[in-house]
Amino acid sequence: YRINVRPIMDKDGDNVGVVTLMQDITKLKEIDDMKSDFVSTVSHEFRTPLTSISMAAGLLLDKTSGEINENQAELLEAIIEDNERLKNLVSDLLDLSKFESGKVTMDIELQDINEMIEYAVKQFRQRAKDRNISLEIDVKENMPKVNADFNKISWVLTNLVGNALRYTPRDGSGKIVIKAKETANKILVSVADNGKGIAEEYQERIFSKFIQVKDDNGDEKGGTGLGLAISKEIINAHGGEIWVDSKLGDGSIFYFSLYVGT
Ligand code: ADP
Repeated sequence: YRINVRPIMDKDGDNVGVVTLMQDITKLKEIDDMKSDFVSTVSHEFRTPLTSISMAAGLLLDKTSGEINENQAELLEAIIEDNERLKNLVSDLLDLSKFESGKVTMDIELQDINEMIEYAVKQFRQRAKDRNISLEIDVKENMPKVNADFNKISWVLTNLVGNALRYTPRDGSGKIVIKAKETANKILVSVADNGKGIAEEYQERIFSKFIQVKDDNGDEKGGTGLGLAISKEIINAHGGEIWVDSKLGDGSIFYFSLYVGT
């Protein structure tokens, strides 16, 4: 049941009673569970054909089954690229539906925050270099360990650094800094960029699924709009918090906190 209680005031502001609303939400919960099951089944069914499509297109591009001209090669590359985006979307949808239906198992152990940051960042070093963006890690040695699922926190870091790279200028002025510091019983991790920033009205909403800030030209540059929603589920499952501090045009700092382990 969902219960809502609201006081009734008279015109002097004195409390003269309450209205209690009780709603049976069993049906709503059932529908919600059905929706999660549906998304998860459909995503699963999509996986196999998507893999076949990219393999077939890859074989054609490799000229395994005969010569192709430049135009055909370009079309095949477009197919492979869009297919990759679909595969990512399906995998993100599956992850999210697992969290929503409470089917995620967490593998919590004592982890070194430095190691997780290194692990996530190393896959972006080349891309950052290619784009002329500086990518810096600023973490003190010997930080206390945190209670964390290594793969899931690395996933969050990968998503945050990937976003920072995507929304930061490539003219040599772009700078991304990843920090971790100790505060009371938590470690606070931040990923800062000096990219396009996020308008105030979007700063909370981007953590909901499918919310993407539209550019002036309506282009949202790939992405699925699920990354931050999944990141939020992951951090919440660790008992931590995640938020953003940003100014349009100046850049963004994404923060998340994790409990120090004992
Ligand atoms: P995706 O990046 O796949 O679109 P996310 O959930 O990771 O999805 O991000 C949601 C939206 O938040 C993005 O589409 C973008 O508009 C905005 N955003 C995320 N990170 C940044 C950033 N570092 N700078 C500017 N905008 C960002």
